[in-house]
Amino acid sequence: MKLHRISFYDNFTCATDQCPDTCCAGWNIPVDQETMQKWQTYPLSLRLGLFSHLCKKEGIPCIRMTHTHCPFQDADMLCSLERHHGEDAMPHICRIYPRKRKNYGICAEETLELSCPKAAELFLEHRHDFHYVSLDTEISYPVSGTNQDATFFEDLLFCREELISFLQTADMDFPAICAVLIRYAKKQQEFWISHGFSFADGIQPQSLHHSDDFPHPVQINPADAFLISGDILSRMISEGLYHEKMRTKSPFLYELCHLYFDEFSGSKKTPDVSQHLMFLHNDLQNVLPDVEDLLRSYYIYYLDSCFLDIFETYSFLKTIASGIIHVSLIWLFFSLYHRKYHSLTGAEQARIIAAYEKRARHNDVVLNAMYEALTPLFTNLQ
Ligand code: SF4
Repeated sequence: MKLHRISFYDNFTCATDQCPDTCCAGWNIPVDQETMQKWQTYPLSLRLGLFSHLCKKEGIPCIRMTHTHCPFQDADMLCSLERHHGEDAMPHICRIYPRKRKNYGICAEETLELSCPKAAELFLEHRHDFHYVSLDTEISYPVSGTNQDATFFEDLLFCREELISFLQTADMDFPAICAVLIRYAKKQQEFWISHGFSFADGIQPQSLHHSDDFPHPVQINPADAFLISGDILSRMISEGLYHEKMRTKSPFLYELCHLYFDEFSGSKKTPDVSQHLMFLHNDLQNVLPDVEDLLRSYYIYYLDSCFLDIFETYSFLKTIASGIIHVSLIWLFFSLYHRKYHSLTGAEQARIIAAYEKRARHNDVVLNAMYEALTPLFTNLQ
């Protein structure tokens, strides 16, 4: 089978006890059936210890986290399961993370999750030259969805290539690019809905470059730093991303959200939100002149990792718009972090990306709430 593997995939090594925000905290860690069966073969006393740390989250067996982290994480930040019983005793997800492997049945793709700070660092190091390497190989992991429509899959690969090529070459500011992307997503969604998602009769995807009105310039207010207005950003953070529990579970992201609250709703609150967003934007541009380029690369990586989700969800609009949410918030957190600490090194950028992704990309409740907050934007972009 064809395997597409992101070019820096094999460069990953875990930071272990040096990790600034370890994957042993801040989210649920599911335990797969195979690992539980292995645990069943261990001596009784050990078995009891292991199973007593399990609970169910939405029907899925997970490790019962302490107030702050995984109970198997030792004081030196290393995993006691691995230390005492070998890597095989760890849940499957802990053994492969941050590698993301997806078998579509037609081909497989492998990337690294940027919710890991080390993977985010690798992305930043390789952001000018990452690409998929194509290999012919046996795929050992199972098919992850039920769609078998090879024609639709090919169409999605075609759309992804066109979008990436657009992002690499478009001569416009990032808010204008985002507006074009949303408009494109809406048109694709309407196109496929009007064809009833029936792909057997040789329907071709709507081509960006052959479409008369692409990239159709969308009117953007030049006074807006972001495509997303201050009101929508505020709803996305307060009703979606933020939760009081982050104080112990994701302290770094908690701090970033509070930098936002201090700046926009605390005592320092400025009356003109869009003017203040523009100020932050320009401030960041001064210290990181190629920040737009960085965020384009981030969006391209997002497309590489997530665009084919549409093969199962059929949702062009939600997939493309979610990437814009992520880009906008990372941009905002970069700005706020720099304003507070007067520093934004590569390692700090990677830490911000990872902390944000861990919550926003891996929690459907959070993403749905942020997407819900974004929907008023769609009516404005005809
Ligand atoms: S988040 Fe990444 S670098 Fe940190 S402990 Fe987990 S796998 Fe290692």
